[in-house]
Amino acid sequence: MKKIEVIKNEDLKKYTTLHIGGKCKNVYFPKTVEEVNEVLDLHPIILGCGSNVLIDDTKVFENAMVLTKFNKITLMGNTIIAEAGAKLMDVCLFAYEHGLTGLEFAYGIPGSVGGAIVMNAGAYGGEIKDVLVGVKTNKQFYENKDCEFGYRTSRFSHSEECILSGYFQLRKGDSSMILQKMKELLQRRIEKQPLDAYSAGSTFKRGKDFYASQLISDCQLKGYRVNGASVSMKHAGFLINEENATFNEYLQLIKDVQKIVYEKTNKQLECEIKIIS
Ligand SMILES: Cc1cc2nc3c(=O)[nH]c(=O)nc-3n(C[C@H](O)[C@H](O)[C@H](O)COP(=O)(O)OP(=O)(O)OC[C@H]3O[C@@H](n4cnc5c(N)ncnc54)[C@H](O)[C@@H]3O)c2cc1C
Repeated sequence: MKKIEVIKNEDLKKYTTLHIGGKCKNVYFPKTVEEVNEVLDLHPIILGCGSNVLIDDTKVFENAMVLTKFNKITLMGNTIIAEAGAKLMDVCLFAYEHGLTGLEFAYGIPGSVGGAIVMNAGAYGGEIKDVLVGVKTNKQFYENKDCEFGYRTSRFSHSEECILSGYFQLRKGDSSMILQKMKELLQRRIEKQPLDAYSAGSTFKRGKDFYASQLISDCQLKGYRVNGASVSMKHAGFLINEENATFNEYLQLIKDVQKIVYEKTNKQLECEIKIIS
């Protein structure tokens, strides 16, 4: 562990978009595969951009690994190979700079390559699984067909493996059209989502026959709050940390929303965000 960057007794909330989370004795920032593998021996909490996690703030954790400095992006033909900590937005820009189309849908998702693969992140009709041909983990290489991708899930959602890199196969496209599409989709986010608030994006998954945000809104829950945690007034699918919300307040808000929606509509909302406790 000699050379690996580490911060001792660090607040994990700094590495999450919700800004909720407890202390951690050692937060590592590996930059190479060798460093990632070395830290993995400590069984750390793995974080990319922390944009889909709710971390317990009543606990002191031993070890965490933030992958954002493990972030090289390279090109092989029309295939982009991106290390797990690379920001998805940077991969989208890289694709645009090389005149490659297929990843525009992901522009605006504030996650890392690793986190996006774990979640099979998606938006505006596209999903990671549509462009990903392979995943390298600390154990082996998986082809797309072996990744068990589903709606906001993959085999990595419930495995101990650490994603090291993703292989995105794109197509040659028209750079100005690619840029236009990316800008258009980002603009839609700016208009619809509370991007100035601390959140983890949509808190709940879409159901088979419903959008969680629509149900929450129909149940008049916009603005509903548990102390510092509240349902966004702008987008009911976003539960936000409005004012120094604690882990327990945010969790209570999730439970209240699930309970009220179930009582009024008979629909069960399933959490999309990962709870680390
Ligand atoms: C404003 C906002 C908008 C959003 N919009 C969208 C959207 O449109 N579509 C969408 O799908 N999501 C969206 N999200 C959610 C989130 O950005 C995505 O799920 C993203 O892919 C998560 O990546 P991350 O790096 O932040 O993951 P993290 O939050 O860091 O981690 C998520 C999970 O993956 C695990 N993990 C992370 N990296 C690795 C790795 N390398 N190996 C193994 N496990 C790993 C973590 O342990 C954790 O369990 C949004 C979030 C916000 C805040």
